[in-house]
Amino acid sequence: METGYDVVIIGGGVVGSSIAYFLSANAGFDGRIAVIERDPYYTASSSSLSTSAIRQQFGTPPNIAMSQFSIDFLREVPTRLAIGNELADIGLHEPGYLVLATPERAEAQRAKNRVQRGMGVEVELMEQAELARRFPWLNAEDLALASHGLGSEGWFDGPGLLQAFRRKARSQGVDYRAATVTGMAMASAGRISEIVLDNGERLSAGTVVNAAGPWSAGIARMAGADLPVVPSKRCVFVFESPAKVENCPFIFDTSGFWLRPEGKLFLCGIPPLHENAPDDFGLDVDYGLFDEIIWPALAHRVPGFEELRMLRAWAGLYEMNTFDHSGIIGRHPQISNLVLATGFSGHGMMHAAATGSGVSDLIAYGEYRSIDLSPFRYERIGENRPIEEHVY
Ligand SMILES: Cc1cc2nc3c(=O)[nH]c(=O)nc-3n(C[C@H](O)[C@H](O)[C@H](O)COP(=O)(O)OP(=O)(O)OC[C@H]3O[C@@H](n4cnc5c(N)ncnc54)[C@H](O)[C@@H]3O)c2cc1C
Repeated sequence: METGYDVVIIGGGVVGSSIAYFLSANAGFDGRIAVIERDPYYTASSSSLSTSAIRQQFGTPPNIAMSQFSIDFLREVPTRLAIGNELADIGLHEPGYLVLATPERAEAQRAKNRVQRGMGVEVELMEQAELARRFPWLNAEDLALASHGLGSEGWFDGPGLLQAFRRKARSQGVDYRAATVTGMAMASAGRISEIVLDNGERLSAGTVVNAAGPWSAGIARMAGADLPVVPSKRCVFVFESPAKVENCPFIFDTSGFWLRPEGKLFLCGIPPLHENAPDDFGLDVDYGLFDEIIWPALAHRVPGFEELRMLRAWAGLYEMNTFDHSGIIGRHPQISNLVLATGFSGHGMMHAAATGSGVSDLIAYGEYRSIDLSPFRYERIGENRPIEEHVY
């Protein structure tokens, strides 16, 4: 088995696998690539526990640009990630997001709308009466405004996207190694020379990519670097209801819950009341969140949901960037051969394609070509220049 690689990617989730796919397809790169993934079944990986939605309705241009790049790619996934004649199917639906605002939040929503429209996002603002007319199953009484995306937003099969990236990357010569990275050997304080695996192997690496999701701060520490990325648990609840909720988009409610249909069922969730400890990677579901908070809020917003039956639930981890809730992407300023691709804070599935394409250019050409990801650079943390995004 090979022990020397030009690029070693730590973490084979959707982000690591997207980078592996784009880099192995990049005309400017012909080196050897390994992806080290300790869990080939992805049982605890964020990418397999994700609800996999994509929105354009961000508050900052860099994140909007990521979504614009990614939706274009997602539409082309069936052919771009096909293997021979076998198309890749990720079931992309684009019914839009509906972001609801109380009178107090209406002005902030209008300000976001100006940023979005300035970036060419097709999004309409609806006053209360129009909202009630368009979505008659929704209680709009306490709402002033809603922002509705006109396509380019929706959801898809995220684990399917991960597998499609992985399959295609392997078909392009990428080695996937089932092992845990346990340490790194440094050539000097500023350069990683070897990746140490739990099976005793040591891999030499020209460039090391940290795409370890919620575990990426631990990987950075192996190279002596700090990353403000912690695991943040998110619970997802699946329910059924006899209510007639037609043309249901992805909804962000004023109470904090999100909701979307999944076939005849619905998925929902809400940010936790209390963050888990930064060293807590547990995946226990907090059922109290549904019974005490989400259900009453659902029934208030969609009165038909007074009658519902919760069927199942699961929990996964956001790789939360505690500095500004946006990705941290690019070369580490002090460790010359370490590239970061983490900290997406709930956006990593939708932004995986843009990240993969940009990072592959950075490695192949030393600069961004297909999309400029420089706003996401690590240095912004030291400079205290946040990309302020609201986290849901
Ligand atoms: C409930 C939930 C809902 C979400 N909803 C959305 C959404 O609607 N839209 C969206 O865009 N995003 C969403 N996200 C976020 C999104 O899923 C993540 O941002 C994305 O999956 C991160 O991908 P990743 O590849 O960085 O991380 P992961 O998928 O976690 O991959 C990291 C991999 O690194 C591996 N690894 C870690 N340590 C080591 C080691 N030492 N050695 C070897 N391998 C290691 C892990 O096994 C793991 O497979 C959601 C997340 C959750 C949990």
